[in-house]
Amino acid sequence: MDDLTLIAASGIALPTQPFLDRHLIGGAWQGSADGAVSERMSPAHGTLVSRAANGGVIEADAAVAAAKAAFAGWSRLSGKARAAVLLKVADLIEANVERMAVLETLETGKPISQSRGEVLGAADLWRYAAALGRVSHGDSHNALGEEILAVVLKQPRGVVSVICPWNFPIWILSQKLPFALAAGCTCVVKPSELTPSTTVLLGELLIEAGLPAGVVNIVLGYGEPVGSRMVQHPDVDMVTFTGSTAVGRAIAAAAGSGLKKVALELGGKNPQVVFPDADLDSAADAVVFGVYFNAGECCNSGSKVIVHADVAEAFVARVVALSRKVAFGDPLNETTQVGAIVTPAHGRKIDGYVKAAVRAGATVALGGRTLQVQGLAGDFYQPTVVTGVTPDMAIAREEVFAPVLAVLTFRTLAEAISLANDASYGLSAGVWSENVHTCLEFGRRVQAGTIWTNTWMDGFAEVTFGGMKQSGLGREIGSYGLDEFLEVKSLVMRVGRTRANWVRG
Ligand code: NAD
Repeated sequence: MDDLTLIAASGIALPTQPFLDRHLIGGAWQGSADGAVSERMSPAHGTLVSRAANGGVIEADAAVAAAKAAFAGWSRLSGKARAAVLLKVADLIEANVERMAVLETLETGKPISQSRGEVLGAADLWRYAAALGRVSHGDSHNALGEEILAVVLKQPRGVVSVICPWNFPIWILSQKLPFALAAGCTCVVKPSELTPSTTVLLGELLIEAGLPAGVVNIVLGYGEPVGSRMVQHPDVDMVTFTGSTAVGRAIAAAAGSGLKKVALELGGKNPQVVFPDADLDSAADAVVFGVYFNAGECCNSGSKVIVHADVAEAFVARVVALSRKVAFGDPLNETTQVGAIVTPAHGRKIDGYVKAAVRAGATVALGGRTLQVQGLAGDFYQPTVVTGVTPDMAIAREEVFAPVLAVLTFRTLAEAISLANDASYGLSAGVWSENVHTCLEFGRRVQAGTIWTNTWMDGFAEVTFGGMKQSGLGREIGSYGLDEFLEVKSLVMRVGRTRANWVRG
């Protein structure tokens, strides 16, 4: 396809030595007891990026024990003292933006400019959580009569297992970890086996910032056995997980048998609905951004557009024209907007979805195949627009996790809302219209944790985020994000010797 915008290999020298990832347990870096390691290749370049200790139950148990031992000290510090450490971490993240961004790009395949933005955004989350921990407070009941005073305390939940996905490693970790720490919890963290390095780098920064040993422990390895042990361990009080709905469901079931608190950020199949009175140029640009950002490997991917039938043909033509201008290619190049697909197996899965849609009667208006990028051995997928999609097709219902847009049409507001709600997921949705009544009706009736109105994927540390239905349980960031890590306790106090005896006589 020579009418796409492709960025060939930029010739930037790749690291000659792999980054070495080890577990952080009780303040000490260590390999696995059995010496096991796993390697991560750059999905764009095909070269070795990192070599990580591959942990097991022994390491998970040791990390939980260290977190449990550290809890009494960390949880009793003042919010101010905890904030002082978190603020230092934020400064150190900013001072290491380039190191972190390069590792993030090499392990995930995402563009370097985007990685820098995510690292800087992560620093902002650490600062925000630091401040939140100082203003968080409980409640008091001062109108129960002269003889009673009751206060509601918010206390840290205890030891929290933090399990993260591969697609935004430092960003998603920072949606969880600083909030848990600000609340006074101690943590065991497991990054994805595909992207361990920036979590390990963060571990170095936590030590440099003066975080006491054992408050954060990092165990590297696979979901089975490390992740599942982190869920089932009896000394773990809460699990916060971001990842696929299938794994989230298994975690909820396992945590449920131990009656542990769980917070789950899961998958999405997020529709953008475009009404004919919208600013169609802006909507088309947002649809293109929404589907290609992070190569579509994003929980918030706007992978489905539902466009009014009267404007559908012109709108799709505009989306296709814009898609050709999006720069796909070497993620180390400053101008690249879309990088590589995470693994070859995932590339084959994407292709399967597109082919199945075509077999079911849909039409490929653009792309629909793997992409060769000059000078790079890795896996890329073409910007792809599929029209004539019906609500029953897998491409309309499932999370393809790819630069692949499914186009559906509608005629009335009621039909648009019904199509948007015809999904097992409920993470986010978008509405494009100049009519405030249309936007409000859509915003109130569509079942999704976030509704964007005449925009897409604007996010803020202050504004909480999370999913409805199969997209999750609980909320992250904002003040609600901190509250997930706090347990409420009521303290009821009698003032003076005013209690009447219950036993008569
Ligand atoms: P994944 O579910 O395959 O893995 C996520 C993490 O869970 C990894 O660290 C993995 O090792 C671990 N894991 C796997 N099996 C486990 C088990 N049995 N017990 C405990 N841990 C286990 O997801 P992924 O491919 O890394 O990430 C992509 C998914 O994450 C997509 O579905 C995406 O939508 C979702 N996601 C959601 C959000 C959100 O905020 N809602 C954000 C980013 C990604």
